[in-house]
Amino acid sequence: MRSGHLFIISGPSGAGKGTLVKELIHRLPDLWVSVSATTRLPRPGERDGVDYYFLTLTEFEGRVRSGEFLEHAQVHGNSYGTLRTAVERRLAHGMDVILEIDPQGAFQVRKRMDRSRLIFVKAPSSEDLEKRIRNRGAETDEQIRTRMETSRREMELEGNYDHVVINDDVPRAVDELIDYIRSVSEPPDDQP
Ligand code: 5GP
Repeated sequence: MRSGHLFIISGPSGAGKGTLVKELIHRLPDLWVSVSATTRLPRPGERDGVDYYFLTLTEFEGRVRSGEFLEHAQVHGNSYGTLRTAVERRLAHGMDVILEIDPQGAFQVRKRMDRSRLIFVKAPSSEDLEKRIRNRGAETDEQIRTRMETSRREMELEGNYDHVVINDDVPRAVDELIDYIRSVSEPPDDQP
């Protein structure tokens, strides 16, 4: 059995990665999206084990020490990490896997898994990005400033990615993502 492909969707906070990923798995239900662990508090409506595994800092650090993370990073003052076993098991069973993680995590994974593909999702402009972060209504002004600053730094990393998607229109951006994923996981010589 061929092993699955690992696609890492990354890019600035507020670029709409989460929306694109939700729509993507709706349209490609065979993709498996990894559920990350985080020390940040749940937002209203978020569920443990579905949106994230919400851990205390002590629990998170214990898992770091026991090597349970494929990657982990501090983002906007909280810790986030991808649980290794769940991802490796799916890949070994031939499933294509999506990680929706920040650029620090994306580059850690690329070093460990050379067949991974990095996809950068960006908003059409920085004004647009700020509007999206504000409209989400989940953060204080101080948190918004931190997120905008991180986003500006992250925008500079675009050139290190395998593919860049501008999230100007969700259905169009999802079509582009699907085309890219298919071009990697179903290359022409795999066809009957
Ligand atoms: P949020 O708090 O808005 O859900 O996520 C904040 C940032 O953390 C986003 O850029 C998101 O992609 C990133 N993130 C989510 N899960 C992980 C993870 O497991 N590892 C890393 N490195 N970043 C993550």
